Amino acid sequence: MIKQPHELALLAQSGRLLASVFEMLDRTPLAGLSTLAVNDMVERFIVDDLKARPASKGQYDFAYVLNSSVNDVVCHGVPSASEILAEGDIVNLDITLEKNGYIADSSKTYMVGEVHPAARRLVETTYEALWKGIQAVRPGARLGDVGWAIERHAKKNGYSVVREYCGHGIGREMHEEPQVMHYGRPGTGLLLREGMVFTIEPMINRGRRGVITPEDGWAVVTKDGSLSAQFEHTVAVTASGVAVLTLRADERL
Ligand code: MG
Repeated sequence: MIKQPHELALLAQSGRLLASVFEMLDRTPLAGLSTLAVNDMVERFIVDDLKARPASKGQYDFAYVLNSSVNDVVCHGVPSASEILAEGDIVNLDITLEKNGYIADSSKTYMVGEVHPAARRLVETTYEALWKGIQAVRPGARLGDVGWAIERHAKKNGYSVVREYCGHGIGREMHEEPQVMHYGRPGTGLLLREGMVFTIEPMINRGRRGVITPEDGWAVVTKDGSLSAQFEHTVAVTASGVAVLTLRADERL
């Protein structure tokens, strides 16, 4: 579970490349595009511009380079030519990228054009909750501290945290140990040590936390039909705190 310095350097390189994918998306007006068109644009950018590999393509028989989860879709939404993004939608784009054998994983919920203030508040609170979790990461802290920081911020704002899906260790494989819950109790769970690398990726619902997981197919939706947002970064535990490997140019630790 502990990465060596040369592995951390390669993970940081993959993380920087993945951040540049989101910086490209930040410059792209999404309204009127199908989620498949967004997928294809991201694939071309990763393969042609970054000379990297979209890590989700082919994993678990998934045919796309991203998950696109619109409005009440919690996660694992599948790009489609018939799903056109419209003003007022919120859409999480979850992307993985591999370069030189090491994988980075990040996601961001985009607001398409002007969105309802309630949707904006959910998206902004979810982003804040991700950062509450990141700020709890340091050697000697525990994963329960991370989950508690996220859950507390969500609940304080009247929202709920999805429990069925969690963050994960990452490296040569997309999903490694440990599992990173987005709820928990302080002082419990795995002790964090320098060299651990994992994702933090809270899914937060405007309504209740229940979700419907399809028996076949991918997209997970809220049981009560309420909006759901998510943000994700890949982080490393450093000697003194945390490094965000997928940090974008507009973000500060
Ligand atoms: Mg992930």
